[in-house]
Amino acid sequence: MRIRIPGLVGVLLVIGVLTGVPTAQAPVLSQNVVVITIDGYRWQEMFSGAALEYFKRDSNDRPGAMEQRFWRSSPHERRAVLTPFLWNDVATTGQIFGDPGAGSRAHVTNGLWFSYPGYNEMFAGVADSRIDSNRKLPNPNITVLEWLNSRPGLKGKVAAFGAWDVLPFILNTERSGIPVGTGFKPVPAPSTDRERAINELATDLPPYWGYGTLDAPMVYASIEALRTSQPRVLYLMLGEGDEWAHENKYDFYLESAHRSDQFIRRIWDTLQSLPAYAGKTTLLVTTDHGRGATVKDWSDHGRDVPAAENTWFAAIGPSVPALGVRRDVTVTTAQLAATIAAVIGEDFSAVAPKAAPPLPLRR
Ligand SMILES: [Zn+2]
Repeated sequence: MRIRIPGLVGVLLVIGVLTGVPTAQAPVLSQNVVVITIDGYRWQEMFSGAALEYFKRDSNDRPGAMEQRFWRSSPHERRAVLTPFLWNDVATTGQIFGDPGAGSRAHVTNGLWFSYPGYNEMFAGVADSRIDSNRKLPNPNITVLEWLNSRPGLKGKVAAFGAWDVLPFILNTERSGIPVGTGFKPVPAPSTDRERAINELATDLPPYWGYGTLDAPMVYASIEALRTSQPRVLYLMLGEGDEWAHENKYDFYLESAHRSDQFIRRIWDTLQSLPAYAGKTTLLVTTDHGRGATVKDWSDHGRDVPAAENTWFAAIGPSVPALGVRRDVTVTTAQLAATIAAVIGEDFSAVAPKAAPPLPLRR
């Protein structure tokens, strides 16, 4: 059967007008934006799930618990079982960038391929050669979070959480005034029993990496902030997976990826349960760097590790048309900053002319 294209387009346009489906020229603004990063989560697992050759077998060559849990024969099944929220929800009602299988790529531009340069790039909107270590250097750059925290209607409405105790320096809290839950204190200024309990939990868990608690108390603190102080811009840094990877523990790395996905779902469900956020909040998810691409070097990253510059993005919310996995488009980590501003109607280029443009969420 032949379809008369002009007629079809006309019908779709009428449907669009009647249902309020946005056209390419009319971006839908969100009231709030939530950003979540999964430190050092590889695009390989993001797009293909678990890799069989990375699992360690016992002396009888039997698959272990995580292999049984996360191994499937097809890459699409594997990624959906590993990060079901990203693939069953975000990929169907939002967008995913960086899938090499769709001819796309996402990558950092800082040339260093480790954490602080990556976080600076994503929040300042441009790589900075002065950020060349993970040392606790107060960020000389104004991040988009700092700038938003000075904007009308947003002042005092920006909050961040992440166990890695370099986060306050990345966001230059002394200058920016952004409250950051970090280290072993997820709630910076606890005032309720629940907030005090979250901070107690953070110190009661094993201090495995010295610099701060595990991810879960930071997630609880984020959810508590959404319920109480209700920031319009919230950033949550998830970091456990990178640590397990550095310890060459693929099982733990995968389990952490799965748990990160469940944490992100919990944040999203919390947003949809609160009138201040439901239906008017966009969620952006990404990573600060990739890792090596082989069994030998997957645990590592940095400029000596080929492929560690590749990343990915996921986005969902009213500012994100349901375009699914984006085909044939290359984006960079630097584009996150302007995107964070753009989805709530702010133009980061006004103060950061060198910042990369927003992600092409409307094609
Ligand atoms: Zn990192």
